[in-house]
Amino acid sequence: MLKFFLLPSTLQPSSKFSFSNTLSHQTPSSPTNQPFPTTMSSINFHSHTFAGHPLHSKFPISGDPFSPSEALEALNDRIVNSIHSSPSPNLKVLPFRNGRPLASSTAGSGDSPPSWHLGWIELDDMRGVLGNSVSGLSVDWFVYLGSSAEDDAVYWAIDVSDKVPELGTNMNLCFVELRTLMVATDWSDSQAMGNLAIAGHAKALLEWHDVSRFCGHCGEKTIPMEAGRRKKCSNDSCKRRIYPRVDPVVIMLVIDRENDRALLGKRQMPATQLYTSLSGFTEPGESLEEAVRRETWEETGIEVGEVVYHSSQPWPVGPNSIPCQLMVGFFAYAKSLEINVDKKELADAQWFSREDVRRALTFAKYKKAQRTAAEKVEHMCKGMEKNRSLAADFNVESADEHAPIVVPGPFAIAHHLISSWAFSDQNVVNGVECNSKLPMGSMTNLQ
Ligand SMILES: [Zn+2]
Repeated sequence: MLKFFLLPSTLQPSSKFSFSNTLSHQTPSSPTNQPFPTTMSSINFHSHTFAGHPLHSKFPISGDPFSPSEALEALNDRIVNSIHSSPSPNLKVLPFRNGRPLASSTAGSGDSPPSWHLGWIELDDMRGVLGNSVSGLSVDWFVYLGSSAEDDAVYWAIDVSDKVPELGTNMNLCFVELRTLMVATDWSDSQAMGNLAIAGHAKALLEWHDVSRFCGHCGEKTIPMEAGRRKKCSNDSCKRRIYPRVDPVVIMLVIDRENDRALLGKRQMPATQLYTSLSGFTEPGESLEEAVRRETWEETGIEVGEVVYHSSQPWPVGPNSIPCQLMVGFFAYAKSLEINVDKKELADAQWFSREDVRRALTFAKYKKAQRTAAEKVEHMCKGMEKNRSLAADFNVESADEHAPIVVPGPFAIAHHLISSWAFSDQNVVNGVECNSKLPMGSMTNLQ
């Protein structure tokens, strides 16, 4: 019989994930003398998208039945030795197919959009859901995601790409692109945000397993260890340990303090007015601040002086070959103003006034894009729609007479860098007066 589970409410992200100095500052509390509607004030993040993983940072120590090593033994007993002496803990599995997690969707009540859920499957039900092709289950396929003693459960991910075909359409379950789920997530729903973070972590780990199947030193096969959280070379004379890969990317809002403008760039994509912060990978042997200055110089010819940290965001939805980027966000203060765009990197880059940026943030239809993506997931899970192109998910609305440009939605750190600056001249934030020219995220860092 088919069973799947919603993430228990006890696993919702707690308030400790809250970003008191950055994200919660971005929205003006109650703007009194500005001409824009207050759509931004409805955005209330506890953490960036893909951060705030509710199962993370709770890994029990060795010896605890919920620890990775003990949980792996329990998993081994169940699937290799078929020992069911103890029903505890529950072993719940999130299958992925070609990087897409299993998901379901429930219709919204009244006017609210549908909401998606992760398709957790009890270990014992794996065959019932995924068919006999998983009959030769191996513990090596499973990756430990975390546990909850409160819910008596250990959570795992498994890649079934080459093991099972697409699911039939009669299960109300389907494999959905993580980017689609990202756009479909109601960012004010902390449980949905927690689910997204779990799926992002799982995807990053599974893709890392996929791209590290062989030892880079001797070429022998690698084998998982520590319940899939590490790997090592199978060659006894090598035994190299391999750790999950994270690639740091700097992302910076370059600011012209003198003229109260911000520098935004447009990627080489046809028919888009999407302008966003500059970004780029860090080079080996380079500090983050150096990467900010180098990338800004290379892409736009602008020289940067002071660099101030804002916040960071895991980004597991980049290219498959890069399992997880870590976006590290900064404000970067320009020392020169003349733009010289590298056309190989960007289609355009311009200085935008605070007014223009506020208009872009205010009039973008982020909620509409979220509803469209949520309805798409609902249709897919009911077998009504195949995966569409990703571009459609990101179409938050073309620029119109209200705003000349579009800026990324709240799922991206770029949105928060841009909105932090755009609304930072409002003198009262959370009841505290602040320097009118400083972006909010920089306040604590400059003290
Ligand atoms: Zn080796």
